[in-house]
Amino acid sequence: MQKLAAGNWKMNGTAEVLAEIAALAAAEPTPACEVLICPPATLLSRLSDAAKGSPIRTGAQDCHANEGGAHTGDISAEMVADAGGHYIIVGHSERRADHAETDAIVRAKAEAAWRAGLSAIICIGETLEEREAGRTIEVVGGQLAGSVPDGATGVNTVIAYEPVWAIGTGKVPTLDEIGAVHDDIRTRLVDRFGATANDMRLLYGGSVKPGNAAEIFGVSNVDGALVGGASLKAADFAGIVSALK
Ligand code: PEP
Repeated sequence: MQKLAAGNWKMNGTAEVLAEIAALAAAEPTPACEVLICPPATLLSRLSDAAKGSPIRTGAQDCHANEGGAHTGDISAEMVADAGGHYIIVGHSERRADHAETDAIVRAKAEAAWRAGLSAIICIGETLEEREAGRTIEVVGGQLAGSVPDGATGVNTVIAYEPVWAIGTGKVPTLDEIGAVHDDIRTRLVDRFGATANDMRLLYGGSVKPGNAAEIFGVSNVDGALVGGASLKAADFAGIVSALK
C-alpha cells in the first residue's frame, strides 16, 4: 500500500499560492508516499497544470452528487476530473456542519467521484461532546456504515478519521486513542468489504504538523494524513510528507 499525504487548503488561496506547488515539488522531488493537494475549486485547473511533471496530484474538497444541471454554485465530479483532479474529499466535518450534509449525501457524493473515475476521501469523526460521552466508536462506526457506499475498494476509497475537536485547534488525541479508532475502522471495513479493505488507506486528520507527524504515522492502521493548516506552506507540508515512509 502506498501511503498518502493529502493537503486540504479549504477556502484559502488565490493565484499567488501556486508557487507553493513548485516549492513542494522542489522540497520533495521523490516522495516515498503519494502526495495530494486539494485547493479551492477556483485553483484546481491551474494547480493541476502547475503540478504536471511532478509527483503531486490534485483533487477537490467537495462535489455535487449529480453530473450536471441546475445546481447554482456547485461543481460535479466530472468537472473535477476535467480540471485534472484525481480525488474528491467528501463529508468533511466543515461541510457536514456548514451545509447540513448527512451520511446519505456524503455517500452519494462518493459514488459521484467513482462515476467520474476518481477516488473519494470520505471523512468521518466525532465531536468533543460525543467523545466525552464515550460515544466515539459508536459515532464513527455509524458514519462509516452510512457514508461509505457498497463497492468501496482500496483503489476508489480512502477513509479520513478526523475528530472534529482536533481540526484546526492544535489538540490531538493520544496515539492510543488514534490507534483504537483506526483499528476499529479497519475491522469494520474488512467485515463489510473483505480483503480489499486491507488496501484501503486510513488517514488521520486533525492538527497534524511536521513536529507530530512521525509519531502519528507510527500508529497501527494509520496510512497517512489529511492536513489542513500545515498543508498551506510547502515547507510545513514537506516536513509531513518526509515523515511518511
Ligand atoms: C482538516 O481540515 O481536514 C484538518 C485536518 O485541518 P487541520 O490540519 O488544520 O487540523
